[in-house]
Amino acid sequence: MSSRNNPNRIKIHRSYTVIDVSETLGVHPKTVRNWIRVGLPVFDEKRPLLIRGIDLKIYLKQKRKTYMHQCEVHEMYCFKCRQPNNPNIESLQFIAKPAGMAQMTGGCEVCGCKANKYVSWRDVNQIWLELGGKFPIAEKHLNLRGKALLNCPLNKVFNDE
Ligand SMILES: [Zn+2]
Repeated sequence: MSSRNNPNRIKIHRSYTVIDVSETLGVHPKTVRNWIRVGLPVFDEKRPLLIRGIDLKIYLKQKRKTYMHQCEVHEMYCFKCRQPNNPNIESLQFIAKPAGMAQMTGGCEVCGCKANKYVSWRDVNQIWLELGGKFPIAEKHLNLRGKALLNCPLNKVFNDE
């Protein structure tokens, strides 16, 4: 990854437009729009789209980490197995964090070792479905829970099947 694409250039208390981000990091505006499409949170849905510095910083750090370990969005890096593995769906938890992020924790499907990583709330549905969840999770429903610890959100529905 190029050194220009450096989260340290981002000021956390500022808001950025797509063009601002593009100029600050020296990346193409298309790249920034693509980040938004794949999970970078935006401040609201109005135009011009505004991205909070803190969101961008977390996103870039996470992206770099994910890149290093080459995890798919639903995988977590297991330090015991030394490779990305799926978490066991029954152990999966999402904990709400500020800035549209969630901490995903779960036991490695192979060895049971606990792992965690940060994901965007936007990815929670996809992660859930890729791990074998039966129904999509309504994103709004999750956001309403605020900072509470979420047990596997559809445990009940899942067990009723
Ligand atoms: Zn493992």
